[in-house]
Amino acid sequence: MKFKFTDYHLHTKGWSVDVAQDGPTFEDYIKVAEEHQINICFLDHYELHYVENDKTNPFYNGRINDYLEEIDIYKETYDFILSGLEVEYYENKEIQLMEFMDDYGNELDFIGGSIHEWIIGYPITTKKGLTKLLEKIPMKKIIDNYFELMTKMINSQIFKNICHIDTIFRYINNNEFIPTDDCDTSDNRVLELGRLCIKNKIKVELNLSGLRFPIKRTFPSLDVMKQLKKEGVEFFVGSDSHSLDYFEKKIPRLIETYKLLNAL
Ligand SMILES: [Zn+2]
Ligand SMILES: [Zn+2]
Repeated sequence: MKFKFTDYHLHTKGWSVDVAQDGPTFEDYIKVAEEHQINICFLDHYELHYVENDKTNPFYNGRINDYLEEIDIYKETYDFILSGLEVEYYENKEIQLMEFMDDYGNELDFIGGSIHEWIIGYPITTKKGLTKLLEKIPMKKIIDNYFELMTKMINSQIFKNICHIDTIFRYINNNEFIPTDDCDTSDNRVLELGRLCIKNKIKVELNLSGLRFPIKRTFPSLDVMKQLKKEGVEFFVGSDSHSLDYFEKKIPRLIETYKLLNAL
């Protein structure tokens, strides 16, 4: 890669459904990245459930090949971009996920595993989805389910990289949906996941997206990051940008985070 630091987590218009109609294209990101001298990795959402069942999904009907072709064209000109996907983990689709990794693992430069939604239609990473889920399931159980699923995903070894390891706290925190007394929101749980990643030789993302939510911290927190780094976790940093503005504004923070990691 041409530059020293890499933002591993960018979402683009047309490929990630949660990016606005006037959101950034590959080219928009490339221009800003070049200006600021950082490498970038496109990490659009790839959620098998929707890829298989939703005709409006950008990756429906094998369109992943178009995605790769499009990025490949840019790669001919620019030597600081990577092709990647943020792939959703489903505990009942491990076989399909493994097949996907067999088919495309080598076609892409980088794949990160994520959990946003384990009951279809109730994503915990949107306020609306989480609100609906909280009407059905007690908060304690939602948090416990999240950590159980993360443990399963890590132990499955399907992914070599894990994104936003404690994103369950994007909305469940003291600034937003305040945890009920019976909830275990301790750092210990996140540390345990990190230790499992060491055991399974999986890299962990330091995800900057929490900074744009009321929680105002990274996923995981810097304290957890420092502890895990000491214990041997390898980190990559991602802004999880869905807009050009956020991407550009977070570049100094991205660089600062890499420097901090290197100094630990
Ligand atoms: Zn995500
Ligand atoms: Zn993302």
